[in-house]
Parts: sequence; structure tokens; C-alpha cells
Amino acid sequence: MKEPALSGAKGESGSTLKTLGMSDWFPLGDCQLLVVSDGVLRLDAGAVFGLTPRIMWEPLAGPLDEEHRLGVGLNCLLVRSQGKLILVETGVGSKATRLPGAAGVGQAGTLLADLARQGIRPEEVDVVINTHLHFDHCGGNTTYRDDKLALAFPRARYFVQKGEWEAANHPNERTRATYLAENLEPLADSRRLELVEGEAEVTKEVRILPAPGHTADHAIVEVSSGGRTALYVGELAQHPVMLERLAWISAFDVLPLVTLETKRRILERAVAEDALLVCVHSPPPGIGRIRLVEGKRKWEAA
Ligand SMILES: [Zn+2]
Repeated sequence: MKEPALSGAKGESGSTLKTLGMSDWFPLGDCQLLVVSDGVLRLDAGAVFGLTPRIMWEPLAGPLDEEHRLGVGLNCLLVRSQGKLILVETGVGSKATRLPGAAGVGQAGTLLADLARQGIRPEEVDVVINTHLHFDHCGGNTTYRDDKLALAFPRARYFVQKGEWEAANHPNERTRATYLAENLEPLADSRRLELVEGEAEVTKEVRILPAPGHTADHAIVEVSSGGRTALYVGELAQHPVMLERLAWISAFDVLPLVTLETKRRILERAVAEDALLVCVHSPPPGIGRIRLVEGKRKWEAA
């Protein structure tokens, strides 16, 4: 089946890497930031927009494929901060093992190639942060090496919220399709896992902040330096229009009313601080700002 180009992306239709107009390193105070990509994930569009009626989201969503799926980005963020190379999120990864339901992952698994293109070897990554442990956010944490599951970033410390780790290791009937053992076991067996509770400092400039709703222990990442702020907002929204509209919340969220209040709080902060936002599932590179225009939130891609 022909896969349409990712909505909003530049480049050749259907070409995995060419569609991903990657940006260059850019400064934020004393930090350097770069969006890298694990490619494209295809999700059922109705599930992405949750309770929102199709007649409202369809004109804004962008092109769907023949199976009514929306192509979403898998934008991961690299941060150079205080001598550390930090990778936020690792996408679907390339293990291509059990995959949930109708999700399309044929164009995913490009992260290591994208890092290589930037001249970055996996062993150079000091820290990996996962906002949560759904398969499309931590699949690239692990890989097959000599036919054995291993950590993809062998020198890194992996930061995860403790509650999220527990939820992922005790999945229920609803969550077991997305919490996959092969993404977790090599970490459990390593000394590299850093389970944190609530706010956690990775460097003086990089912090993990609770942002519950998508999962009970979903987190975002704040980069703050030189009076400027960037927020990697994780799964606060799956599409930029969902940042503009508080009530548009995906069916994937396990606590949608908590998501609503989390979105309100974080977006108020983002507007007040003119924060740069990095959105995992937006068209690459997924960088922009939320501005108030005549009292309404407006997403402006950077
Ligand atoms: Zn996701």
C-alpha cells in the first residue's frame, strides 16, 4: 500500500527520510538543541482525535491513508547541556517485533541512521529520557546486538518516572498492546535505569516535570538557559491543533480530564514565557510556539 507523505512535511511524497526536513543544531542560552527523527508512525485518526467529532477534526488533520490513519512524526530531541549529550525519546525503534493493532510502523526506525548522519555514535549519548513508555516513545531504547536484546545507547543513563515504569511492567488489558516487554527487559537487567519521582534535575539546565494525563506518570522535559525556555511536551498533544484546543484529547489518554488540566497549566506557562515547544508527533521538526491571537491559542511553527 502506498503511504502518503506526512502531513505538513516538506519533501518527496512517500520517501521516509527526505520527508523529514531536519533542522540544524540551534542555541538556547548555553545549550544546543537538535531535533532528530525516528521517522513516521501511522495512527488511526479517530483514535488520535478522541471524542472530537470527525466533522470538526477532518478539515484540520491533513491527509489520511486508505486505512484512515494519520501519519505523525516521531521527533526526538538532542540537548547538549553542561558537557552532557541528552536524548529525549527514542521513537518506535527498529526491532519490528510485536506491534499494536493497526499502527503503521513501516516508515519508523530511522533514529540511529539519523544520529549517524549527524555524526553521533550511540555510545556518545550520556542520558536518555522517556516521557513515558508507550512503544512509540521508548522502542529505540533497545536494539538487537548479536541476536540478543541490548541497550541501544550502552553508556547512557535512562531516566523514567517510577510510576510509569511500574505501569509498564504491570500492563492491563488496555495497556498491554503498547507496553512491550522487549522495550523494558534489557533496562530492568541493567544498572543504567534511573527511576525518578516527580520533578527531577538531569543537569542544571534540563529538568523532567510531571505532566499527567496521557498516562498517570507522563512527564515533559524543560530546557532552561539564559532566560529562555524550551519544553519538550511529549504526548500533551498528538497534533498541533490539539495544543490550540484544550478539549481535543486523544483516545489514547488514560486520564483525559487530567490531561485537560495539565494542558491548561503547561500552555499558560508556555504563553507567559514565550517558550519554544517541541512536539513529538507534529510534522518534523515539530518546533513552534503557542501565541495568543485575539484571546485564542495559535500554534506557530518555528
Ligand atoms: Zn506517542
